[in-house]
Amino acid sequence: MSEGEGTSPRSVRFAAGAPPHGRGECRPGADVKGVTGVTGVLHLVCELDVFHDVGLLQKMGVWSGAILVAGIAAIAFAAALGIAPEPLSWAWFAGLVAATAASFAIHELVHGLFFWLLGGRGTRIRFGARQGMLYTRAEGLMLPVRRFVVVLLAPAVLVSAATVAVGWAAGLPLAAAIVFVLHLSGCVGDFAFVQAIFESDADLAEDTETGMRLYAAAYADGVVPAAAACRMRR
Ligand SMILES: [Zn+2]
Repeated sequence: MSEGEGTSPRSVRFAAGAPPHGRGECRPGADVKGVTGVTGVLHLVCELDVFHDVGLLQKMGVWSGAILVAGIAAIAFAAALGIAPEPLSWAWFAGLVAATAASFAIHELVHGLFFWLLGGRGTRIRFGARQGMLYTRAEGLMLPVRRFVVVLLAPAVLVSAATVAVGWAAGLPLAAAIVFVLHLSGCVGDFAFVQAIFESDADLAEDTETGMRLYAAAYADGVVPAAAACRMRR
């Protein structure tokens, strides 16, 4: 999406004062709780497509590479300090591969859990894989952006913490460090979405088939905040 497209908002009507945790951009009963001054019109300010937006994919690649390089450097630094890793073996390597795969599967489950917790009853969640990326979808679910940020960041926080805790308890610091770095390098799509939310003045975020849409609510006087545009640089 170009900068220009992001600054020409599309209006979306929805029912103000409706029950919480609705879904869909136009459906009566859309969730407006937690958003103040809503008049009943939302303006699309940003759309992220994680499968087709080359700029977004390039950015994710750069971030992912940076995390991998920093992680390898940190592990090498720890080795240089004389922090002895566990003895290596084929079983260790097999366990490392299994643990890495598990971290990504659990990552998606955590997204699903938080979509369900914050999206309310009736939230339909689907898991899948496309273009080498695992995904969790609650397509059409619309949440206040703060809740959406929680959904986006929960796996990065919880899976990272669990990796450290399990690795420490099992006496496998090197394996834990590698899984930690590999998993974190796979969180870059979530981080890019959080950046887009912070760089826009959006009030609501909608989960879509290919990513996320951000909407700004018109305020009580019907004016959309002037800054409500996706300023994301790619
Ligand atoms: Zn994720």
